[in-house]
Amino acid sequence: MAMAVAENKPHAVCIPYPAQSHIKGIMKLAKLLHHRGFFITFVNTEFNQNRLTKARGPDSLNGFPNFQFKTIPDSLPPVELATDSGGHPISLVCPRSSTPPSDPNATHDVAALCGSVRRNFLTPFRNLLAKLNDDDNATPAVTCIVSDGVMPFTIKVADELRIPVAMFWTFAACGFMGFYQYRALLDKGLTPLKDASYLTNGYLDTVIDWIPGMKDIRLKDLPTFLQTADPNNEIFNLCMESAESASQASAIGLHTFDALEQDLLDTLSSMFPHVYTIGPLQLLLNQQVSPELESLGYNLWKEEAECLQWLDSKEPRSVVYVNFGSIVVISLQHLIEFAWGLANSNHHFLWVIRPDLVIGDLAILPPEFEADTKEKGLIAGWCPQEEILNHPSVGAFLTHSGWNSTIESLTAGVPMMCWPFFGDQVTNCKYICNEWEVGMEIDNNVKRDEVEKLVREFMEGENGKKMKNKALEWKNLAEKATGPDGSSTFNLDKLVNVLLSRN
Ligand code: UDP
Repeated sequence: MAMAVAENKPHAVCIPYPAQSHIKGIMKLAKLLHHRGFFITFVNTEFNQNRLTKARGPDSLNGFPNFQFKTIPDSLPPVELATDSGGHPISLVCPRSSTPPSDPNATHDVAALCGSVRRNFLTPFRNLLAKLNDDDNATPAVTCIVSDGVMPFTIKVADELRIPVAMFWTFAACGFMGFYQYRALLDKGLTPLKDASYLTNGYLDTVIDWIPGMKDIRLKDLPTFLQTADPNNEIFNLCMESAESASQASAIGLHTFDALEQDLLDTLSSMFPHVYTIGPLQLLLNQQVSPELESLGYNLWKEEAECLQWLDSKEPRSVVYVNFGSIVVISLQHLIEFAWGLANSNHHFLWVIRPDLVIGDLAILPPEFEADTKEKGLIAGWCPQEEILNHPSVGAFLTHSGWNSTIESLTAGVPMMCWPFFGDQVTNCKYICNEWEVGMEIDNNVKRDEVEKLVREFMEGENGKKMKNKALEWKNLAEKATGPDGSSTFNLDKLVNVLLSRN
């Protein structure tokens, strides 16, 4: 019915890699394109579409004008709940979280998902586009594809249909450049590792001084999927293939802004004809969202908005916010070290412990910790992170350094304690601490004393103040980049032009 209006619209099919942070990034970009007049088909896996509607309500994805959702299968066996050694579902025993224990919102195994993306996604995606083009004018003909950078099969489909395709990387330029080096690392024999001893024998400290635009980089600072002895590692291979095929795309988008990564972006622009920094996406969206899409959310978990009320009752910059993102799983031992480090620091904290954060054991926080921190701490299962980071009571962010968390923290002017886990998180951490000077790293094998000391440094120390000021400078530059004459604003225009051009 609304299609009469849509008939002449350009039609962008947008497809994220099927994980929380990618869905959020690509959906934000899709909203910006919708505001520029595009009809949007947003493609989720069936699994994630179910999770979205479960978290947000059965009708939460329906009824948006010129914005529809479609699904393809992920071809993976159903996700099973992690169980303990007795076969019982692992539950988080945490009296202060309102998320029910044993929440079945488990996430797919990353390697299995990457393998499936490499082998199983092309055909259903191709078929979906054929169906969209053959639906008797129910939707306008597909005119372009906006694909996650790590879903390279979309380039083939765009080529078959002779339409432009933009590969949007929900990563920083440093993360992208890291992935782009995977082929060279392979060719130089630096990966795969000879055996597992190379993970700990100092080999990963090897300095890599030949990557254009990147200095003082060691092997261990590059996205960690190269740290494998298996030449068939699915994640490594998907990332390598994706970065390699970027040159075949009509445009490459990166979720960053020029001032943040100027050297690297200059280098990338000399390597690829159309590299566009479009970030921070949220700042662009604050000015350019279609009002009818405002209620369209991204979260696969139910947000606990009470966190914001709790923050309202706290002094400015008095709370440490702790969140390890949507994929990281940690050991019970590390959870307990973090718990006591936070408690002993004597500062307020808001800690998001996903129902599936701790794996392999019952995640029981010690009752003494519960008693000790009743007044000082709040624990939630999932929160509206961007609102939290922008809340005046938040003084520092203890993060796993996922790229979205990082750019959201920079956008809010909040300094970071970094505990990177895998992938590009280590590269982001390196840049956060050394280049952008807004963070400090926590040892892999975290101990409570270190956490306590670092929290005090961030909340009370001189270094903390310096990093806060630096973070505010980046916030300011992010706002400039997304202002009327900003680089990201111009780049969004350029991306739109590429998507509107004929291949
Ligand atoms: N996020 C959120 N609430 C939470 C935890 C995470 O809204 O309680 C969002 C966060 O704002 C970010 C994304 O989930 O946009 C996490 O992405 P990131 O790249 O930091 O990490 P990943 O989940 O991919 O490891």
